[in-house]
This record gives sequence, C-alpha cells and structure tokens, in this order.
Amino acid sequence: MQDKTLTCSDCGREFTFTASEQEFFASKGFSSPSRCPDCRAIRKAQRANSSYGGGYGGERQMYPAVCAQCGKETEVPFQPRGDRPVYCSDCYRAQQGGSSRGGYGGSRDRDRRSSRY
Ligand SMILES: [Zn+2]
Ligand SMILES: [Zn+2]
Repeated sequence: MQDKTLTCSDCGREFTFTASEQEFFASKGFSSPSRCPDCRAIRKAQRANSSYGGGYGGERQMYPAVCAQCGKETEVPFQPRGDRPVYCSDCYRAQQGGSSRGGYGGSRDRDRRSSRY
C-alpha cells in the first residue's frame, strides 16, 4: 500500500492517509477518512466535552466576574458579556428565591386579592 493524499472536508486542507492507517481502516472495515487528523481530534474532543458535561468537577471552565448585587468577586460557568448582570452564588440564590425577599415583616402585598373577590 502507498500513502494517499486526501482533502479534509472540514478545513479543506490536504492530509496524508498513510499506508499503515489505510491498513488499520481496512481491517476495521472503515471507509477512508474525510477529515484530517487535526479536525478529527477536534471533533473527538468536542464529543468528549459534551458527554462529560462537567460531571467530574473542576473540568468546567470558570470565568471571573464581579457580583452585580454585592460587588463580591466570583466565578461563573459562562463568559460574562456585560449585557446581563452576574451574581455570586449567594445573590443568585437570593434571586431564585425572589419573592421571599423582604418578607420578614410579613408585609405581603394584598392588592392582588381584589381580583379574587
Ligand atoms: Zn481538517
Ligand atoms: Zn453577590
């Protein structure tokens, strides 16, 4: 067998499909690769990333941010864009629990009840 030159369907670059690779592919019953080793590696990495989904803690990339509520420095699992406020975990939880905020005095809004009359 001889080395073959193939064109990557992803990046359009030519790459070498070596004789030993051809043998390997043939033995597995695969057809010739349509992507260069680089693009294959990228795809593999992407697949691995999406299937792991940050299960093994610490693999997930965190971005530094400043909490819009209390000004504390924090880290968020997405890139802050500036078009949305970023909260630290404490403030984020407070936002989620939203309606219970300031409920200590028992000052419930009774205006809405009128519609139930
Ligand atoms: Zn490629
Ligand atoms: Zn905060």
